[in-house]
Amino acid sequence: MKGRLLHQVSLADFTTWKVGGMAKTVFIPTDFEDLKEFLIQLPKEEPLMWLGQGSNVLVCDSGFKGTVILTKNLQTLQLMPKFLSSALIEEDLTTVSLVRVECGCLSPHFAHWMVQQGFGGIEFLAGIPGTIGGALVMNAGAHGSCTWEHVAVAEMIDRTGEVCLCYPHEFDIGYRQVQLKGALQEQRWFTAAYFIGEPGDELASKRKIQEILKRRRDTQPLTLPNAGSVFQNPKDDFAGRLIEVCGLKGFCVGDACVSEKHANFIVNQGRATATDIEQLIRLIQQKVDENFGVHLVTEIKIIG
Ligand SMILES: Cc1cc2nc3c(=O)[nH]c(=O)nc-3n(C[C@H](O)[C@H](O)[C@H](O)COP(=O)(O)OP(=O)(O)OC[C@H]3O[C@@H](n4cnc5c(N)ncnc54)[C@H](O)[C@@H]3O)c2cc1C
Repeated sequence: MKGRLLHQVSLADFTTWKVGGMAKTVFIPTDFEDLKEFLIQLPKEEPLMWLGQGSNVLVCDSGFKGTVILTKNLQTLQLMPKFLSSALIEEDLTTVSLVRVECGCLSPHFAHWMVQQGFGGIEFLAGIPGTIGGALVMNAGAHGSCTWEHVAVAEMIDRTGEVCLCYPHEFDIGYRQVQLKGALQEQRWFTAAYFIGEPGDELASKRKIQEILKRRRDTQPLTLPNAGSVFQNPKDDFAGRLIEVCGLKGFCVGDACVSEKHANFIVNQGRATATDIEQLIRLIQQKVDENFGVHLVTEIKIIG
């Protein structure tokens, strides 16, 4: 195997909150074949977890007693030949353009690349600082668009190294959640996806991306470690609004604080631990429940 195998690694280095305990082992495959080879030789009982940019996870201070696969080197982007595209989605040769993107590719990079290729519709990903793998798992979205609206087929791998193509109708796809129907999604991971390339206007798309990024800089606390929105928005409301009305902006547990700029963000002011963040999450849920009778559901995935 060509990839890097590391032992006793702090996962704080691989999450955007910069908190979290140790992983027993971390494997960083250099390419797809390397990943496959690694999975094939991995003992069946070994707990396995995949991480992209770690921009949507809270890894507990107790860490992860298993192997973490870091996908960051799996970044190939490829415009598919028309005949392969039409075979994959059984559509007219002349109308389909598919782009295959590997799971470790950064979503903002993919968004810019698509614009350069003359495709539109993916601009929203320019502001979401994770990988395509993470975007597929979370159905990441913003500004009225979400990831799976643009996916024709996903490619998944299981722990025996077997790869399969999975079509959108095989998943339950919702707001920030995606579940493979009738199968254990925990035992399959995304290696790539084929996105539909919709014709776009390069100048208009570039302008759109600039606006998106400016809006984010203006409204989000991007200079401190965070994991984006911590809670899903309840139906017809905003988690941030409810938290703000509870008077929790600026409230801290240790160095974990509700952002003054955006109440649905928790920022790490320097030395926060995962336990601080978890306690703050529980406290916010309790206050919002007491005041509004609404149970805020976390958008971030808690690991450990
Ligand atoms: C500043 C900021 C702004 C954000 N804004 C938005 C936003 O507007 N909209 C939005 O939806 N999200 C937003 N997020 C959250 C986050 O960036 C997205 O959910 C992103 O898609 C997660 O990607 P990731 O690579 O970081 O995933 P990770 O955090 O690494 O992983 C997320 C989950 O996916 C799993 N996973 C990762 N890769 C794979 C794979 N290849 N196969 C199977 N499972 C995998 C992990 O085990 C974990 O359960 C924001 C985050 C930040 C920090």
